[in-house]
Amino acid sequence: MPAWDYDIVIVGAGPAGLTAGIYAGRARLKTLLLEKLIHGGQVMTTDLVENYPGFPEGISGFELSDRMRKQAERFGLEFRTGEVLELEPGPEHHLVRLQGEELRAGALIIASGAGYRKLGAPGEKEFTGKGVSYCATCDGALYRGETIAVVGGGDTALTDTLFLCRFAEKIHLIHRRDAFRGEKFLQEQVLAQEKQGKVEIHWDSVVHEIQGRHAVEALALKNVKTGEESRLPVAGVFIFVGITPNTSWLQGCVSLDEWGFVFTDGEMATSVPGIYAAGDVRSKLLRQIATAVGDGAIAAFAAESYLEHLQR
Ligand SMILES: Cc1cc2nc3c(=O)[nH]c(=O)nc-3n(C[C@H](O)[C@H](O)[C@H](O)COP(=O)(O)OP(=O)(O)OC[C@H]3O[C@@H](n4cnc5c(N)ncnc54)[C@H](O)[C@@H]3O)c2cc1C
Repeated sequence: MPAWDYDIVIVGAGPAGLTAGIYAGRARLKTLLLEKLIHGGQVMTTDLVENYPGFPEGISGFELSDRMRKQAERFGLEFRTGEVLELEPGPEHHLVRLQGEELRAGALIIASGAGYRKLGAPGEKEFTGKGVSYCATCDGALYRGETIAVVGGGDTALTDTLFLCRFAEKIHLIHRRDAFRGEKFLQEQVLAQEKQGKVEIHWDSVVHEIQGRHAVEALALKNVKTGEESRLPVAGVFIFVGITPNTSWLQGCVSLDEWGFVFTDGEMATSVPGIYAAGDVRSKLLRQIATAVGDGAIAAFAAESYLEHLQR
């Protein structure tokens, strides 16, 4: 008899966790998926997903998540609502702590995802998905020929401003400082776009309100040095002020990069044997549904091989 309650415990029911659940279920492993909120993760906040293969007309985030959950349930995955508060890795099993409860897992898959940092400006929450976006790859093509804004000054803000130049007629780049933090090479490319009139940079500026009736129509800006206020008409605003991994419950358990994302190898193995990570929570290049799904499949397959070796 195995010395654990579940062969695999998966933490987080976004696309990475749900895919890991489908693969673990089909491998006939006793698997529990723990989710603190609602299945689907960040996808539930997405109106229309247009870049996930197999849906040429796009699919709503809700429907995609629901289909993934039903598929996982069909293969016997057990779901529970609960927040994992702590993890205690061990040589024979790993302890997963919830409020007032402890579970023993033969292998663990961390799929707790990440969240985009918010500006906290009035209108931001109300217009998310209606002109406020945190993902240029996802929503850039919706703004063909439009005037839009980008907020931020790091690598992502600069890279995605250049990417958005392919679609938008004009981009207002709003940065709260008087110099960018991003790579010099990226800065040069953005400044070259500024010379051509495609990009207009608003230094020392912050967005203090996102305005509109049914969708974004304008930004209220404030210059932090002069205090001057202005109104900028735009069809959309992309906010790139950072992404935070959901890893506070993992401190000291597995190796994390300098931003708190989990280090893994190509098989999704973390620094601790039997603990895998998949999706946005990983230290990686591209955080998308397609990559989360791929990670989840690999993590479940690797966990299955790990358990087989352990029991030999
Ligand atoms: C507004 C928006 C639009 C997007 N649009 C697209 C798009 O069009 N195309 C695309 O490919 N990608 C898009 N993305 C990105 C995509 O949603 C993510 O890459 C993807 O959801 C990552 O999946 P994941 O499973 O790794 O993590 P997540 O989706 O972040 O899911 C993680 C889950 O873990 C849960 N969790 C966290 N901590 C715990 C804990 N301690 N205990 C239990 N549960 C926990 C969370 O509640 C969450 O449900 C978008 C993202 C956003 C925010």
